[in-house]
Amino acid sequence: MTLTPQAQTLALLGGQMYFDGAWPRWPASDENTERNLLQVLLSGRWAISGAFRGEEAFEKRFARDFASFCNTEYCVPTSSGTAALTIALLALGIGPGDEVLVPGLTWVACASAVVSVGAVPVLVDIDPENLAMCPDAAERAITSDTAVIMLVHPFCRLGDLDAFVALCSRKAIPLIEDCSQAHGAQWRGRRVGSFGAAGCFSMQQSKILTSGEGGAVTTNDSGLAQRLQQLRADGRVYAPTSVKGRLELLEVGEVMGQNFCLSEFQSAILVDRLLHVDTENALRGLFEYRLQELLAADPLASLLSTDSRITQVAYYNLVLRIDGDRFNHVPVDMIARALSAELGVQISPLYKPMNEHPLYVPLTSPRLKGHAQAVRFDPRQFDLPQARRARGLHLTVPNWPLLAGAVGAERLHAALAKVEANSDALALLSLSESREAF
Ligand SMILES: *Cc1c(COP(=O)(O)O)cnc(C)c1O
Repeated sequence: MTLTPQAQTLALLGGQMYFDGAWPRWPASDENTERNLLQVLLSGRWAISGAFRGEEAFEKRFARDFASFCNTEYCVPTSSGTAALTIALLALGIGPGDEVLVPGLTWVACASAVVSVGAVPVLVDIDPENLAMCPDAAERAITSDTAVIMLVHPFCRLGDLDAFVALCSRKAIPLIEDCSQAHGAQWRGRRVGSFGAAGCFSMQQSKILTSGEGGAVTTNDSGLAQRLQQLRADGRVYAPTSVKGRLELLEVGEVMGQNFCLSEFQSAILVDRLLHVDTENALRGLFEYRLQELLAADPLASLLSTDSRITQVAYYNLVLRIDGDRFNHVPVDMIARALSAELGVQISPLYKPMNEHPLYVPLTSPRLKGHAQAVRFDPRQFDLPQARRARGLHLTVPNWPLLAGAVGAERLHAALAKVEANSDALALLSLSESREAF
């Protein structure tokens, strides 16, 4: 008798993997990416702080292309998403004494960037439907010190931009959209990054537009764009005209900056890969569509609810809500490990809520040495019940397996079925093992 795949031993317990083939390669590149990189290599100009060689800097070109992609007037590239958030806050004049509303369930850089400019992150609970900051909770958290709302568009959904744009305008508080997980997404037909005072992006390795490390800020405000340029290049901006053999940067120094510049290599990659963002998101959409069909027939998990105002979905991670009853109430961390072992790709739980995240501990930072109000930074003062509940219910699939489209969804669904069929064995394992760190 041959066993059905579902009845076979889990890969995590020494059995065969459900799928041991290759997933789409990430980060993706092709001959055009290579050509751009080689052009920089041989150009004699590896950074915008190198002399002008008669050819437009890739950084300048990427800024123009990305602004136009995001439906904004301006874009200032940066060395990372963290740098983008940092200079966006500084350009808006944020500093000590200010409070910034930050979602309670997101990457730690959102809050640590606020700490780095001396302002206090106020952690706001999430909406369980889209896992983004909850607009009502945000409104309740506003005080006379609230100087910015930082809305993150998480995983594969968007924050409620209608509600946040209205709230920010009613309270006269600038909105920063953190679009590090949402390149190319559209709300009512308009790209994210164009709704607030500034849009911040990360181009780190795992993001859906990447140069390994990198970032950008988008804005429609010319004054803000001028300050952003200076903040990322030690107080310098592009000169109106370029002269061969001379630096293209003009020393302005209206606001003291630091060096957060994107290199020409990174910019050259981004100029090329930007052309693929929409097609890649569409492929990931086919994955979600097929998975939705399979889950309708066999609901081992569910997907986040859809919102008709999201007219283009971007997929940093696809989020699965696990049906605990079907999986014998095995912790999601263990299901994530079992699925990862079946598929050869890392499936993870969500972030730990920021008020209990081991990497967000502002009081360990020398920045707060001798700070009179250091207690205001203690994340444990915030209550984030929805973030905590969400952490126990969901798994995330990274962006590159999603590029496999419908066939990838079929693999994931079959692997889920195999793990479900073995959930008794998994429950025993989770009892006998100590916690795995995610
Ligand atoms: C990745 C990420 C960042 C930080 O970007 P880096 O490029 O790693 O500095 C900030 N915010 C969100 C939501 C992110 O996903």
